Amino acid sequence: MQNYKAILEEIYTDGLNATDKGTVASYIPELAHIDKNNFGIHLKTLDGIEYGAGNFNTPFSIQSISKVLALSKAMALIGESVWKRVDVEPSGHPFNQLALLELENGIPRNPLINSGAIVIADILLSHLKNPKEDFLNYVRELTSDTNINYNLEVAKSEKNTGYKNFAAANLLKSFNNLVNSVDDVLDFYFHQCSIEMTCSQLSNAFFFLANKGYCLTNTAHLTKTQAKRINAIMLTCGFYDEAGEFAFEVGLPGKSGVGGGIVALLPNHFVITTWSPGLNKKGNSKLGMLALEQFTTKTKLSIF
Ligand code: GLU
Repeated sequence: MQNYKAILEEIYTDGLNATDKGTVASYIPELAHIDKNNFGIHLKTLDGIEYGAGNFNTPFSIQSISKVLALSKAMALIGESVWKRVDVEPSGHPFNQLALLELENGIPRNPLINSGAIVIADILLSHLKNPKEDFLNYVRELTSDTNINYNLEVAKSEKNTGYKNFAAANLLKSFNNLVNSVDDVLDFYFHQCSIEMTCSQLSNAFFFLANKGYCLTNTAHLTKTQAKRINAIMLTCGFYDEAGEFAFEVGLPGKSGVGGGIVALLPNHFVITTWSPGLNKKGNSKLGMLALEQFTTKTKLSIF
């Protein structure tokens, strides 16, 4: 039996003592003032063990991590048809890259880069009755927690400065890969990214992906095959142009966000979430990457 508590505490202390804690994202003005000394880790195993260290109960902006939850809702709604509008190949490029879109006739490389996530947002907008309300309820249901909310200031802040996302959405529209208006799709997308959650809430939310599609209350939200597909996409596309490095160093499917969060999981075993807002050059949390690399090294638990 692993001493998870001791391992998490060791990793936490090492992180606190790190000299380089990365740089907080500032392209969304509302995120720029978050203190980069925040650092939290939370582990939840399928057999009921749960530990946290540091700021694991502090809410933060989940940003791109929301793309996984949006994708799972879209798959639950329309199944395999999702793949007619977005591909499943790693991009090897930053999250807001536009060039590939032009080359590939408006079919984004995968659903976890911005252009792909904007197409997924369009699907949700077409299939949910009250899109923003229904999506938030979906996240609350997965997490078994009604205290999760959008941060309207963050959504507004991104809307005011999200020029690249407007460019991507306009390009998608020009290729007829958006059904709804650019403004409506981006309004939904910016809200989705602005959701705030803590590390422990995120571990709970992603539990279903480690548990063959069944959430904490044992409700099926995806089939076993759909959960497998999402985990495969997280492994190959979850870390911008650093997905290879994450698989190499950590060896788990996962997703990061520019708010500094990372969720990773080992199917049938555990979900682990870290938060530290200082990012490395590729936009992934500096301490989060370090902590997860140490976790799989110390426990020898990875998919490989
Ligand atoms: N809302 C952010 C954007 O679209 C998400 C980016 C991220 O977390 O990678 O730019």
